[in-house]
Amino acid sequence: MIDIPAPLRLRLDGDALIANWRLLDRMSGPAACGAAVKADGYGLGAHGVAARLAGAGCRDFFVATWSEAQALAPLGLTLSVLHGLRAEDMAAARAGFARPVLNSLPQIARWREGGGGACDVMVDTGMNRLGIAPSDIADGALDGLAIETLMSHLACADEDSAMNADQRTRFAALAGRTTARRLSLANSAGIALGAAYHFDLTRPGLALYGGVPRGDYAGLVRQVATPEAQVLQRRLVRAGDPVGYNATWTAPHDCAVAIVNLGYADGYVRAFSNTGRARAGGAVLPVIGRVSMDLVALDITAAPDLAEGDWIAIDYDLATQSAASGMSQYELLTLLGRRFGRPQS
Ligand SMILES: *Cc1c(COP(=O)(O)O)cnc(C)c1O
Repeated sequence: MIDIPAPLRLRLDGDALIANWRLLDRMSGPAACGAAVKADGYGLGAHGVAARLAGAGCRDFFVATWSEAQALAPLGLTLSVLHGLRAEDMAAARAGFARPVLNSLPQIARWREGGGGACDVMVDTGMNRLGIAPSDIADGALDGLAIETLMSHLACADEDSAMNADQRTRFAALAGRTTARRLSLANSAGIALGAAYHFDLTRPGLALYGGVPRGDYAGLVRQVATPEAQVLQRRLVRAGDPVGYNATWTAPHDCAVAIVNLGYADGYVRAFSNTGRARAGGAVLPVIGRVSMDLVALDITAAPDLAEGDWIAIDYDLATQSAASGMSQYELLTLLGRRFGRPQS
């Protein structure tokens, strides 16, 4: 096979990733700070992300599925599988490279029938997503289970909602009512709600990867991922001429334009049409016209020296670009596609 360098790459700032984890670890106070690395590390590459965080001292990692856990098994980390235990997962669960987070009475029964062992348990405190009810615990559903972590998940931690305190109160009432060695409630946003939400272990995801789920993190969390794309063609567009599908942009004056190798198939969503931005040196280069499947046009009038083959960094500060595109910060990360080269720095 011939080595063909990709014409687009996702630059990962490993120092920023670690700085973000240290920030969240500090903010978690005496609680341990874990990491959610589901969905391939929020699209940034779970293996690389988990290895770096483990090197920085992170000890507890959360994935969604058993195949995600299996992919990380060679790293020898403590892994919890948030979606728990289907019948189809039993063989993987017995292999011992991760713990299930048991979410329902049938999952608990399945784990017991399979021989049991160390597990985590999710309890629903009001989100009505995954988890058993607090009343199930009162009814003895967990009796005799070897529970490492009892956890719950906040529905509205990124807002100042009365639901946060309600969920916290319901969760705190379960302390000492199970065999769990640790309690865990807070995601990224939940950590910023304060010490009362930290319990023994926190589980940030988004803020590790540069997301700002609450204003508390603005200016503290560092950007981790930057898409970069190569210029395929440079052209002059005359005043009054259109660019791209459906001619949604018309040159107000003669413009230098670069067509770069990035599109919505790579996760650079169509909502960035006429609103996204890129940068070369100090110059800001607006996206002009529609984002195509594999291509974007940029007005490079402010960077007249750009040539075919040059690389351009796409603005991808998650909070800013979420506001610009209407996409959530989570989507902006996890949509980033498979065609990126992924150098790490
Ligand atoms: C995804 C997830 C997290 C991390 O949430 P962020 O908002 O990304 O910090 C924590 N806990 C559970 C159960 C999750 O599903």
